[in-house]
Amino acid sequence: MEWINRQLLARGIKDSRILEAFRKVPRELFVPSHMRAFIENDTAIPIGYGQTTSQPYIIALMIQHLGLKGDEKVLEIGTGSGYQTAILSHLAKEVYSIEIIPELADDAIKRIEKLGIKNVHIFVRDGINGLPEYSPYDAIIVSAYATFVPPSLLEQLSSQGGRLVIPIGNPSIQHIYVIEKHGDKIKKERSVPCLFVPLREEGLEYE
Ligand code: SAH
Repeated sequence: MEWINRQLLARGIKDSRILEAFRKVPRELFVPSHMRAFIENDTAIPIGYGQTTSQPYIIALMIQHLGLKGDEKVLEIGTGSGYQTAILSHLAKEVYSIEIIPELADDAIKRIEKLGIKNVHIFVRDGINGLPEYSPYDAIIVSAYATFVPPSLLEQLSSQGGRLVIPIGNPSIQHIYVIEKHGDKIKKERSVPCLFVPLREEGLEYE
């Protein structure tokens, strides 16, 4: 697990709870077997269906922006492999996660069960609408880029300092945005540049 110090700690991820959560989740379980040689690299790794599991440093940075203490209800859009979902499960009270590709959601559910994680709830649907049933959320994290802040996600964010962390931009350049909601006031801050797959619209073909 030396890569965690090298890729995360050395690059400014100082929150010991986050580092500990990464140590608890074996990345090799979340990538196809022929990709296992690459798990210690700080790169995204293909997981099928044209999707990737994100670069660990960006996952750690986005989670750090959420400022989780352990008692939060979190919504994740884009379960993918379930790697980030598993990490979040160690940092928050309940994690609700939405994935649009049913096969990816099924595999993620199996991995999460295998790890004995009980506070994760995965749903197959279009994440652009969020998951109103369980709202409001203390934190919302989006793992695919949008061209605008989805209004449903803003609505479902707790108005008592809820935080939404989302990549926004276009196919060639995006930035991570940290959006904080206090009452009806919204504070928006731009973090680092990044490169994500797009947030798909329901009915759009994949592969
Ligand atoms: N954090 C994940 C990243 C997966 S990539 C991981 O580490 O594995 C982004 C994921 O978002 C893909 O699995 C993709 O299918 C999913 N996605 C894209 N658009 C979506 C949408 N509108 N609703 C829900 N999930 C979506």
